[in-house]
Amino acid sequence: MNGPLLKVENLTKHYPLGAGFLKKTIPVIRAVEDVSFSVEAGETLCIVGESGCGKSTVARLLMRLVEPTGGRVLIDGTDIAGLKKDSLHAWRRRMQMVFQDPYSSLNPRLTAEKIITEPVENFERLSRKQRQALAADLLRKVGMSPEMMHRFPSELSGGQRQRLGIARALALQPSIIIADEAVSALDVSVQAQILNLLLDLQQQMGIAFVFISHDLGVVEHIAHRVAVMYLGRIVELAPCEALFAKPVHPYTEALIAAAPVPDPTRVRLEAPVAGEVPSPINPPSGCAFHPRCPLGVERCRIEVPPLVPMADGRVVACHVRAQAIELQGQSAAAGNSLATTVSAITWNR
Ligand code: ADP
Ligand code: MG
Repeated sequence: MNGPLLKVENLTKHYPLGAGFLKKTIPVIRAVEDVSFSVEAGETLCIVGESGCGKSTVARLLMRLVEPTGGRVLIDGTDIAGLKKDSLHAWRRRMQMVFQDPYSSLNPRLTAEKIITEPVENFERLSRKQRQALAADLLRKVGMSPEMMHRFPSELSGGQRQRLGIARALALQPSIIIADEAVSALDVSVQAQILNLLLDLQQQMGIAFVFISHDLGVVEHIAHRVAVMYLGRIVELAPCEALFAKPVHPYTEALIAAAPVPDPTRVRLEAPVAGEVPSPINPPSGCAFHPRCPLGVERCRIEVPPLVPMADGRVVACHVRAQAIELQGQSAAAGNSLATTVSAITWNR
């Protein structure tokens, strides 16, 4: 098969505020603005950013739980918005979601057996024996004992409940799982177990993940590539190692500097991003990050910076950094890789 498994093109979601009666223009919340990315089979793309930047809205758009204001979502090259009943069913089998709070996303009145086999029973009738065999198999896959199938969610720990959520997502053998803050509600030690489970499942079954998290420590652990969002837009999308080693967008740099680090030799900056996140109802002109940006120039207030591709495979939306890298690139001798060029820039804080 050619092309990426999942392709998102110029995805946009505006939520209208009120009815706008007698008003010419209805004010809108710009939750997601012109977001594009792709995910390959077996890959983990993480989406990071502060609360309210549009991560969950992207997840809902991918799952078609909300309709986009603009843009497209393609699975294997097929636009999911155009799907008719049968192919919509087939598509639903390929893409599944795991939610943040396993407690509210699992029906408390059903046993684990019913919960995790329900997605399959939406498609085909199972005998009691078939259902129990499937439940046992799914429970083993997520590292739980088959006896747990008789338990109700309230009789399980937080980690076990999230394992159930994952088992349910696995039931239809999807190609891709969208996980929105799937470990954020768990204790750190349980988080690590669930993350390792996801990594194992990916290795065994080649599942792709869109993994949404505000926690950079988690992201660094599991991502192949990382998309950083700010006020509804992607500002940088880079291979994981490159992003953490050398963030290019000043917002990415600030996020990484502010993240609590387990490595005590790495210096942590206190509150490197001054000011509040602006409202998505009236986002700043030009680059939405400019009021908080230490590098901002006049152009940043006027022009929305496009995502510019760089030689190391990343894209960055920053007028100042894009220009600096271009200038460095011109003066560098031909044959120099961009990685050298990027590291040659002085990162003034
Ligand atoms: P995140 O998951 O990154 O915290 P969300 O996608 O939940 O961000 O929200 C992005 C923005 O869209 C926020 O300003 C939020 O208040 C707004 N928003 C999300 N869902 C709705 C909705 N159903 N109606 C109106 N506004 C919404
Ligand atoms: Mg969210």
